Parts: sequence; C-alpha cells; structure tokens
Amino acid sequence: MNNPQTRCGWCRHATVMMPVDHQPMIQRASVTGDDFDAPGSPGWAVFTCAGCGSASLSQGFYPELGGPGKVYTHDFIPLGWYPQEPLVKEYPDSVPPKIAKVATEAHGSMSVGHHQAAVLMARTTVEAVAKAQGITQGSLVAKIDELYNRHLVYEHVRDAAHEVRFVGNDAAHADLVNNPISEDEARAILELMDMVLDGVFIAPAKTAAQKAARQAKKAAAATSTDTPATG
Ligand SMILES: [Zn+2]
Repeated sequence: MNNPQTRCGWCRHATVMMPVDHQPMIQRASVTGDDFDAPGSPGWAVFTCAGCGSASLSQGFYPELGGPGKVYTHDFIPLGWYPQEPLVKEYPDSVPPKIAKVATEAHGSMSVGHHQAAVLMARTTVEAVAKAQGITQGSLVAKIDELYNRHLVYEHVRDAAHEVRFVGNDAAHADLVNNPISEDEARAILELMDMVLDGVFIAPAKTAAQKAARQAKKAAAATSTDTPATG
C-alpha cells in the first residue's frame, strides 16, 4: 500500500499516513450497498500517523480489483479521513476536573454531530465556571457579570460567556425543530466556551507558573552571588 499524505486529525500536523500491514480493506464500515468485488468501490483502511502514531481510518478505494482475501497491489486512493479532529478534548490541570469533564462532554457531543447537546453542555460549563469562583447567586446573566465585576475575567471573556449563554438558552427553550443550531454555530460556541476556560483558569495558571519560575531563578541567582567565591 502507498503512504498517503493528509493532516492528522489527532496531532493536526500535515503528515504521511503509514498503512497498517496485513489488513483487509473493510468495505462495510458503513453500509453503502456496493458490490464487494466491484473495482473502485469504496472501503475503509487503517493508517497510523508518522508523526504522533495515532490511528486514523480512511475511506477510499483501490482503482482495481479488491475483495476478501485478495492481495491489493494498487495504491489506495483516500477520499476522506476520520477523525478530522481529536475525539476527546483534553484540558490542562489548571481547569478543575469537574469543569473539564462537562466541557469535554460539550466537545464529545460536537464530534458526533449533536450540536444542540454541545451548546447545552457549553452553557452548563459557563455556569459551572462561575460557581467554581464562588458565584452561586442569581441568574446566569448575573453570574457572568459578577465574574467581570470581580475582575476574574476580561471584558471580551465576559462577552464570550454571554454569547454561550444566548445560544445555550435557545438550545434549552427555542423551537429547534424549525430552527436547529447549525454545526458552524455550535463550533463557534464551543470556541467561546474554551475562551472562557482559558480566561478564567488556563491563562492565569500559565502566568502564575512563569512568575514562580522567574522568582525562583532570581532567588537562585541571589544565593549564588551571596556565596563567596572559592580559590
Ligand atoms: Zn498525528
């Protein structure tokens, strides 16, 4: 088999995909009704990323004969790759585990096309962020504004949180049968949710770590200066 090139859905780098040896091409990952032996009929093959080693599925075809037990001597032509993005979103330790779990569920819903569920979980995440900061009273509007009033978030992060709230409210109450939340809208909302997590937890933790590292370096330098040189 050949080594197709694509962007790895896991590490997001442009990479060469290495075929997994001795695999038959799987033709029934999705039921298409194609004749198993028809030349050029689509099927699935497993590859691993040369960069990160993660496995990806490609839907594609061999230009000439395939079929069970046959040796494929022709190059596999990929038509698409799965996943296109990591299936499980991971957050750094600075995000409290319970909040990371809800936010991960939002991304998990998104990855399987459940856009309404994704924005509902995003709204839940924003509410949990406020609660984690000790803001438990009032509506979500009030909680978000209080995050800002207490200087826990910048203005643009506050606005991001309100946008998540607006669409989350639609997902909870509006007529989604006639006005469903689109994939693009849900994706944008998750980006804004991640901005809130970054603004409240991730960026401040990074800044604190850098400050601690700088002070430790300064303290070490002061100690070495204080020590009389020998010899
Ligand atoms: Zn990769």
